[in-house]
Amino acid sequence: MHSINILIPKDRLREKFGKDRFSLDYTRINPILGRSVQSVQQVGKARAQKLNKLGIKTIGDLITYYPRNYEDRNKEKKVSELVNDDECAVILKVVSDISLNRPRSNLRIYKTLGVDDTGYVTLTWFNQDYVTEKILRDKTYVFFGKVKRAGIYVEMVNPIFEEVTSERKKTTGIQPVYPLTAGITQSYMRMIQRNALNLVIGKLTEILPEELRRRYSLAEINFSLENIHFPSSFEDKERARKRLVFEELLMLQLGLLQLKTKQTAVSGIKMEKRSLVDRFIEQLPFRLTNAQLRVYREIEEDMTSGEKQMNRLIQGDVGSGKTIVAALAILLTVLNGYQAVFMVPTEILAEQHYRSITPLLGNYGVKTALLTGSVSRKEKEKIKEGIRNNEYHLVIGTHALLEEDVEFARLGLVVTDEQHRFGVKQRAVLASKANPHILVMTATPIPRTLSLILYGDLDISVIDELPPDRKPVKTYAVDESMRARVYNFIRKMVQEGRQAYIICPLVEESDEIEAEAAMTMAKRLEEKDLKGLSIGLVHGKMKWKDKERVMSEFAKGNIQVLVSTTVVEVGVNVPNATIMVVENAERFGLAQLHQLRGRVGRGEHQSYCILFCQSKSEIALKRMEIMTKYNDGFKISEKDMELRGPGDIFGVRQHGLPEFKIANLYQDMEILKEVQRAAEDIIKNQKLSEKEDYRKLKEHLLVMFEDKLKEVALN
Ligand code: ADP
Ligand code: MG
Repeated sequence: MHSINILIPKDRLREKFGKDRFSLDYTRINPILGRSVQSVQQVGKARAQKLNKLGIKTIGDLITYYPRNYEDRNKEKKVSELVNDDECAVILKVVSDISLNRPRSNLRIYKTLGVDDTGYVTLTWFNQDYVTEKILRDKTYVFFGKVKRAGIYVEMVNPIFEEVTSERKKTTGIQPVYPLTAGITQSYMRMIQRNALNLVIGKLTEILPEELRRRYSLAEINFSLENIHFPSSFEDKERARKRLVFEELLMLQLGLLQLKTKQTAVSGIKMEKRSLVDRFIEQLPFRLTNAQLRVYREIEEDMTSGEKQMNRLIQGDVGSGKTIVAALAILLTVLNGYQAVFMVPTEILAEQHYRSITPLLGNYGVKTALLTGSVSRKEKEKIKEGIRNNEYHLVIGTHALLEEDVEFARLGLVVTDEQHRFGVKQRAVLASKANPHILVMTATPIPRTLSLILYGDLDISVIDELPPDRKPVKTYAVDESMRARVYNFIRKMVQEGRQAYIICPLVEESDEIEAEAAMTMAKRLEEKDLKGLSIGLVHGKMKWKDKERVMSEFAKGNIQVLVSTTVVEVGVNVPNATIMVVENAERFGLAQLHQLRGRVGRGEHQSYCILFCQSKSEIALKRMEIMTKYNDGFKISEKDMELRGPGDIFGVRQHGLPEFKIANLYQDMEILKEVQRAAEDIIKNQKLSEKEDYRKLKEHLLVMFEDKLKEVALN
């Protein structure tokens, strides 16, 4: 018996590779980088401790602690051109003596006036006594600093300066700006970066082969490190950056591809194809789409190959019918005498799958158990006993499953549904004798380029087709003035036999407030706005039994309008529900709105999604526009990427992107594409093992992913 790691992508990559693994850790190739940061001039013990807080322990850490921004001191302006918050250089003649003002005993304010042929600037310094000696009336200086402007009044506070006639050192060039911590100033950081670079520049060994650098126009390593910190021009900075980003992404992509190769080497349980599965497919009340069939065939191929363990991700938009594909894989597993686990992120979903799958597969001899956090201890023990004895063939459950030491007699398949919603627990300890096949399903459509790096170690199947009877959901973004009409519309639809969801505002970090808001709303609808209709309520604070009762009443059609928090966000399937109303839609991201809308449009009736939007902010309006315009999740994710704020992208945050030192997956999408082409070429042509020019790259890869790639011969 051994335990199995289930692939739950939240922190999945991080878990795989370790958090700091993306650093430029050439220590084996360039030992000097491994030396303590204290060997850099001007770094003593006390400062070294402060640097440690920034994760800087070695010289290598220091020089890969990249600037977050740059100050362009070459930018020079006339006084009349200055705008508020400018940071630039101005050449000024000082036209008054320096005055001193002491409002408090420990505060000394020095002021003077500078002028050029377009206007005056008040120059102010706090506690910088030396200025009285350095700055003389009637002389001309270059001042560099932040500008405050209000009308014609212009001021610079604490500007740095030098005489315009001397050689300019301080007020020229592009200066790096680093993220800091207490006790480390910007100028100190610049100084020690300079000192560290002086130790290493010229000595770093290039690891990227000539061929690669030429093909993708990648700068040399010594040039790149020098110019990422102290660029002589912005073009040089960009060239340096591109190379460093390329290298960082290439390492991860190659590491993942190698890992995939390694997984293929893990032998899997060999199953036989079963004609009963085909019979099952024929007897379904609907015809599988071509995409569903294709994906099932890919799964079947994996599971019957006998050569490798399946590690497959199914991507499919909401409503594309992933559950049935999983059911087919489960059936194949059980018909082969093995057990399967189906893990879902919420109890509502577990319950729903249990209700729909049990009768479906029951006819084929599959015995199913439901295991969630709400199952009583006694009941759990019984179920676990049944799993141990192979009385149960399929276990459907929430992450409660992950917390139990469930021991399987013959585990053959693990399915995780809507995996992006798993978060807290990362590791399922399911004791088993062999490596079960693994199937991960997600409704978060992300572009291929991103899936290749997020899931580079998995095989990917895409269900890119919706069942034929689906009509696109009609989506409207409305404001308060439409409320009465919306309620009338709901009444009309309910009279026609349909059902509606009303989603209450999202309250970040507080289930309590969210639940309360939902209760208030349900009450108001019941007593006033939708009086006479049967209204149900579900929220995260309810007991499981109560939630389950409400959901099953809704599924049966006994509840006409379901007021809910986002607990129904993923997976819930009630095809007769055709209206989705989202309150305060501006609080939701596009991914969530798309998921919520996916709760309707699941049957033959025309469905509607109504987004109440209270905000007039540009981003909110843009999101609403995207929702009303597009129904296709891939398209929406693409649009989202164009809109994105940093790190906040179509559900990807939940995927647990690795932390990069310099790359930014959104900003660097074009570089990522090149990286993927390069990586594919390297693997396909076995360049790592065969080409001398690639030896250093291979060594480096082995250092980075040492423990993970140990047994694989890199190819
Ligand atoms: P999702 O991919 O979002 O998990 P589900 O698996 O819940 O979607 O399927 C949504 C609905 O579509 C279910 O009611 C399911 O029975 C139905 N369905 C699945 N495949 C087909 C098909 N090929 N034709 C018609 N309906 C289908
Ligand atoms: Mg689903």
